[in-house]
Amino acid sequence: MSTKSTAETVLVTGGCGYVGSHTVLSLLESGYKVVVLDNLCNTTEAGTTATIPEAIKRIQMIVGSDEPVPFYPVDIVDRASLVKIFQAHPEISSVIHCAGLKAVGESGRRPLDYYNVNISGTLNLLQVMEEFDIRRMVFSSSATVYGDPPKIPIPETSPIIASMSTYGRTKVFLEHILRDLCVASEIKQKEYEQEQKRLGEVAVKNYRWSVLLLRYFNPVGAHSSGLIGESPFGTPANLTPFLAQIAVGNLEKLSVYGNDYPTKDGTCIRDYLHVVDCANGHVAALQKIEREEASNNYECKAYNLGAGIGYTVLEVIRAFSKAVGRDLPYVIVPRRLGDVPNLTSDASLANKELNWKAERSLDDMCVDLWRWQSQNPSGYNSQA
Ligand code: NAD
Repeated sequence: MSTKSTAETVLVTGGCGYVGSHTVLSLLESGYKVVVLDNLCNTTEAGTTATIPEAIKRIQMIVGSDEPVPFYPVDIVDRASLVKIFQAHPEISSVIHCAGLKAVGESGRRPLDYYNVNISGTLNLLQVMEEFDIRRMVFSSSATVYGDPPKIPIPETSPIIASMSTYGRTKVFLEHILRDLCVASEIKQKEYEQEQKRLGEVAVKNYRWSVLLLRYFNPVGAHSSGLIGESPFGTPANLTPFLAQIAVGNLEKLSVYGNDYPTKDGTCIRDYLHVVDCANGHVAALQKIEREEASNNYECKAYNLGAGIGYTVLEVIRAFSKAVGRDLPYVIVPRRLGDVPNLTSDASLANKELNWKAERSLDDMCVDLWRWQSQNPSGYNSQA
């Protein structure tokens, strides 16, 4: 990652969450300025009365900066509050949009909340951005858009389908919305340029959007300082934070959903990506947008952020147990609706076009996760 010479300002939505907080840190370390928006609904800090959330305090501790990162406890569904943020920060030039609801199982039980936050919230954000002439976005999409893909490793050209979970559908719909926006903005720009030409004027305005869709595979681990990590509200829905909670004694045992899949040990295969690599992928994406715009290229393009290596659930349990130093209890239970056997990325496009590569191993992810969880058994409610 290269460091910036001039400080652009990036709004990170969901910047106190798992991926968002590591992305805020990567941006600061790369020389960007950051503004954070988060309603704190999915962190252990939910309901906090502190003006600066613990995640932000700790990020500042890591970068060793006294300059406060502006934080807004705002819900993206609240348009008027979004407007106030952009009014207060006319220097914002890009948005990294991580805010959203993400639990697959819960999404089926609360579809209206998921559509409201993920779809309506994003539409609000896009409309307000356009109002303030800000048309650069890096969007948190997901490997879930691939459903049960026909080919492994999965290239970005694999069909994205709208038939899995409600959560998955919100990501598919949002990808379509963002593509439509980019196409429409290109048309608007052409019409504007033609009109300026007809009037004999120089075309100075830009209406085109630049959007990169980052399809994360499975971000895991934590920053190597042990100061920031995943601190979800309630029982974690994902494999590694669940294991970490078992390791600190907060949960009893893991349920492994199915051992009769067509994989080497019968459990599902996923592509695990260190969260710091994932965060660095956002900086790489932003830098790609800046490079392209400098050459007058505006686009909407999807990239897989993955390590390109698949591990089974049992392999991950073994790797994390090794990091903890003891076996962690699990039980095999029937398959879960919606799970697919294998989601492993072909990350070569991101490697090539974003100049980005996942650098950290599964062992690094497990060691870093365990450092974070053992130092912070109650997440951000623990003392740093
Ligand atoms: P997270 O829940 O830790 O972070 C999301 C943050 O957004 C939280 O801090 C939450 O408080 C905030 N938020 C939620 N709704 C909001 C709203 N209405 N207004 C303002 N803030 C709101 O999740 P994460 O793992 O960091 O995921 C970030 C993004 O990446 C999400 O969009 C998620 O769908 C996507 N993603 C995550 C994974 C993963 O495994 N972690 C995989 C693929 C995609």
